[in-house]
Amino acid sequence: MTGIDSQYDCVVLGGGPAGATVATLVARAGWKTLLVERDRMPRFHVGESLMPETYWVFERLGVLEQLKVSPYSKKVGVQFVSSSGKESAPFFFRSHDARECSQTWHVDRAEFDKMLWDNAAASGANCHDNTRAMDVLFEGEQAKGVRLQTAGAEGNEVSAKVVVDATGKQAILGSKLGVRRVDPYLRKAAIWGHYRGGHRDEQGGGVKTVILQTSQNKSWFWYIPQANDLVSVGVVGDNDYLLKGRGAPAEVFRQELKECERLTRWLSEAQLANELHVEKEFSYSTERSAGDGWVLVGDAWGFIDPVYSSGVYFALKSAELAADCIVESLNAGDTSAANLGRWVPDFSQRSGLIRKLVNAFYSGDFRVGKFIAEYPQHREELVDLLIGRIFDGCRGKIFDDLDPWLNARANAEDGES
Ligand SMILES: Cc1cc2nc3c(=O)[nH]c(=O)nc-3n(C[C@H](O)[C@H](O)[C@H](O)COP(=O)(O)OP(=O)(O)OC[C@H]3O[C@@H](n4cnc5c(N)ncnc54)[C@H](O)[C@@H]3O)c2cc1C
Repeated sequence: MTGIDSQYDCVVLGGGPAGATVATLVARAGWKTLLVERDRMPRFHVGESLMPETYWVFERLGVLEQLKVSPYSKKVGVQFVSSSGKESAPFFFRSHDARECSQTWHVDRAEFDKMLWDNAAASGANCHDNTRAMDVLFEGEQAKGVRLQTAGAEGNEVSAKVVVDATGKQAILGSKLGVRRVDPYLRKAAIWGHYRGGHRDEQGGGVKTVILQTSQNKSWFWYIPQANDLVSVGVVGDNDYLLKGRGAPAEVFRQELKECERLTRWLSEAQLANELHVEKEFSYSTERSAGDGWVLVGDAWGFIDPVYSSGVYFALKSAELAADCIVESLNAGDTSAANLGRWVPDFSQRSGLIRKLVNAFYSGDFRVGKFIAEYPQHREELVDLLIGRIFDGCRGKIFDDLDPWLNARANAEDGES
């Protein structure tokens, strides 16, 4: 690793999946690129269940073969369990589309992110961990560089033609510019950890991500079986419901577990393998995604909700699309907002389909299995959405029936109350 120079074509802040992807692709195109991460890599992170459409970004990054020989559990489908304990039929990805790209993984994020980080370094990016971005520097509207803090030197100023904010929910630039908006309808929190020895259901050549509603429908659990007999288990609910006046997170987690009879059974022989973690108020968007000399990607751009495991895929995909715009802008010598943000409208519109599905999930008791039983013609599109297949073809027909179906159920509930 070489030291940090005073001038780069592109400086990328944040060494998660989004930052590593941008840095890899811009460096490969021959532009002088710096990638900085405040923590020591590898670093711990939430977000272990991938969407199958990550496949194409992995292929382009050149990490697909590493993933195929990795010990990670193969994710072959998704299943939902309703508040009454009724299981949907599993949505197996390869029954829908037999291609290899329909299968993905439940990863260890520390290792996985380090793999992408190392790939960026091998692609020619200058990668520095333990290096915190303190500020993004502007001349008028134009981003001109960053101020960094490293172990040896404080206030290191680096100039750049393009600054990429990939700092995740810290969103250093979005916060500085005041363009970040917490989603008022999705003020959620999560308490989560890893168990060893939980129930394991291997069907179809791998495991499923299971989403289980609790009995009163006030929260839901994710169940993500991983390698080494570990399973990631997390409960998600309204911030106030989970974290206000109910005692320590471990106690709240235990209480919520009691509300989920099936999960209690699945964990009856299991032991908590490490401490529980808390994440809160993670759903937000940004009003502007790019400006002259700057662009936001991944969670720094926005994050919807963990329920369909779309976060890492959107981080990778937004980073890939932004990297192509950065390279074109640098080639053209025009790093204006219009050029750097060219990918945004289409990406916002397509990722909005997952946002709609998230809203459906939280609108009362959305029983995925029940809806598909009534509208079997939408099964294929639903599985496409669970795969993350939103960038090819025209999607969204499902909402022609799902929206009225949800409204009818809400009206029926109002009538009962
Ligand atoms: C409760 C919960 C559950 C989730 N579950 C899933 C899931 O199952 N599947 C899924 O796909 N996604 C999931 N996600 C989302 C997923 O974790 C994120 O979408 C993903 O990590 C985004 O990647 P990123 O590269 O944009 O940001 P990050 O992975 O957060 O990386 C940002 C990096 O920037 C660094 N950084 C921050 N500030 C600075 C600074 N000033 N200077 C330098 N570096 C800095 C951070 O240390 C971090 O390493 C979940 C999220 C939550 C909240």
